[in-house]
Amino acid sequence: LGPTLVIGELLVEIVATTLGEGFRETQDLIGPYPSGAPAIFASQSARIGGSTAMAGGVGRDDFGRILTERLEADGVDLSAVLTDPALPTGTAFVRYRPDGGRDFVYNMWTSAAGSLTWTDALAAVAERAGHVHVMGTLLPRPQMAELIERAAGIVKRRGGTVSFDPNLRKELMEGDEAALATFERMIDLTDLLLPSGEELLAAGRTDTPREAVSVLLDRGIKEIALKEGVHGATGFRPDADPVHVPAFEVDEVDPTGAGDCFGGAYVAARRIGLGIEEALTYGAAAGARNVAVRGPMEGAGSRADLDAFIAETPRRSA
Ligand code: ADP
Repeated sequence: LGPTLVIGELLVEIVATTLGEGFRETQDLIGPYPSGAPAIFASQSARIGGSTAMAGGVGRDDFGRILTERLEADGVDLSAVLTDPALPTGTAFVRYRPDGGRDFVYNMWTSAAGSLTWTDALAAVAERAGHVHVMGTLLPRPQMAELIERAAGIVKRRGGTVSFDPNLRKELMEGDEAALATFERMIDLTDLLLPSGEELLAAGRTDTPREAVSVLLDRGIKEIALKEGVHGATGFRPDADPVHVPAFEVDEVDPTGAGDCFGGAYVAARRIGLGIEEALTYGAAAGARNVAVRGPMEGAGSRADLDAFIAETPRRSA
């Protein structure tokens, strides 16, 4: 079984140290932190011991080096990460609002992260991958969707599998017919879906989680790992009872990246051959560790780190 391939944006994140609205006044910022949902996923997947490859682009600059050095240290295969001589590494400036919302300034589409094309290096890694993990963030861009679907198609034809984290908002999809069509094609390729509650309803096109699960399993999805924030996570399979694990009790410092860390741990654990409950527990532990520290992927841990965290951390009551 070849590596888990994840395709998408490599970014550095620079975070405001005070709560508030936007960036229009001079303020203290902290970073750069390596980030990008697929990069966070790849880091956690590799660190827990899953064979992991990433495809994406960085600039020939220090931000790019932060990303490649970090992912290389985590053990991610970077043979399909291109260093673009002409474009800078992508950046995201983030500020948290007092109500929990976030303001962003992104430089993605005009960066190396947003200009990814099909390359021989990507073809080579797709040819040996056993699994593709798809992040929904880039799917609304037709050029990105095409590339991701092509890689997923290659892996599926060889008997591999696909997981999908929609990472999309219902409102966004309702206004964009092309993005919706891409989303529907992606669902048809998906073996394992990793939605949040809202994404589950959007994917099942219903208003009740139970109905959404049954619609999606009937449609051919073989497994759903539902991310429920402070309520933990639940796994669903056809013809089996749902399996729920509670969240771990931690003080939330920085919510960014919890779902991506959960996904990296869950997918790697399942591909290593662990059962659903164990995979959910590793996912919940990875998510909780990640919200407890500043920086989108600073909480990613090895299997030993996660085992120690699981042994010493109380669970939240349901
Ligand atoms: P997403 O970021 O995709 O919306 P979640 O917020 O549900 O995903 O986070 C993924 C997982 O991380 C959750 O299922 C949960 O187990 C864990 N997690 C997230 N936030 C917290 C928190 N504040 N405390 C403890 N665990 C958390």
